[in-house]
Amino acid sequence: RNLYKHFPIRGGIFGRPVGAVRAVDGISFDIKKGETLGLVGESGCGKSTTGMLILRLLEMTTGEVMFEGQNVGKMNKKELRGFRRHAQIIFQDPYASLNPRMTVGEIIGEPLMLHGIASGPERAKRVEQLLNLVGLGSHQVMRYPHEFSGGQRQRIGIARALAVNPKLVVCDEPVSALDVSIQSQILNLLVELQQEMGLTYLFIAHGLNVVKHISDRIGVMYLGKLVELGEGDELISNPLHPYTKTLISAIPQPNPQAQNSRILLCGDVPSPANPPAGCRFHTRCPSCQTVCSEKEPEFRQIDKRFVACHLVTG
Ligand code: SF4
Ligand code: MG
Repeated sequence: RNLYKHFPIRGGIFGRPVGAVRAVDGISFDIKKGETLGLVGESGCGKSTTGMLILRLLEMTTGEVMFEGQNVGKMNKKELRGFRRHAQIIFQDPYASLNPRMTVGEIIGEPLMLHGIASGPERAKRVEQLLNLVGLGSHQVMRYPHEFSGGQRQRIGIARALAVNPKLVVCDEPVSALDVSIQSQILNLLVELQQEMGLTYLFIAHGLNVVKHISDRIGVMYLGKLVELGEGDELISNPLHPYTKTLISAIPQPNPQAQNSRILLCGDVPSPANPPAGCRFHTRCPSCQTVCSEKEPEFRQIDKRFVACHLVTG
């Protein structure tokens, strides 16, 4: 609820704060049990920061994160450790996020040890199960991350995240660093595991083509704000926000004629340290009106959709 994360910019000879990068700038949404909520937007729009705030891997500036009725921001160390058993993350870069000096068995076994879930032969057995679960095979247990391909390394990252039997998993662009040919294998694995283990996903991606098949609902972010949120199919077939429309026009189409309708935005994303007044999208919006640079549109509910645009009225 009303989640903000501002990173101070320090300057001058005294290193005083001279401004702030408004990475996440007042967003509210729910993630329902068992669903996949896709979160999309260009790089730097605040989607990864949002994922980190939800898991409290980053401290928020203000706002509230509630998990099954508990306030995550107010948890003490012990409560936070309990929460981490229920909420895990899969990172974008499966190589950078795996310790190169640890064997696969140690990497996957570590959370079991840290959370006091299993030790000794029981832990070894659980690691074997996890390796089989993600399709690597238990014979890989003594090998090191560099001996694996990108896709296999991401399977290790998934096994590590699932070791503690979490409820919520933040998937932060888990396939962006992988070859296109491997991406669908990993996506399929994540979908299978979700069904098998009853997982809830916050699935972060920069484009809609990755999330459109797997998301129940989709949220679209631009410059630290949510601009649209709704049921996945409906949002794709009938986008209301002009920014969502440009993202949808960027989804590759099998029909080359349809591809011609791609909407190209002028200019770059403005700096989150100095976002435009009014609607943040107004400097690039093809439908911009006078009011758009003067007044910030509210994130309002229209039927089952939430949208922030002056031109969209219920
Ligand atoms: Fe475009 Fe105005 Fe809507 Fe913003 S409020 S998305 S600038 S039409
Ligand atoms: Mg990111």
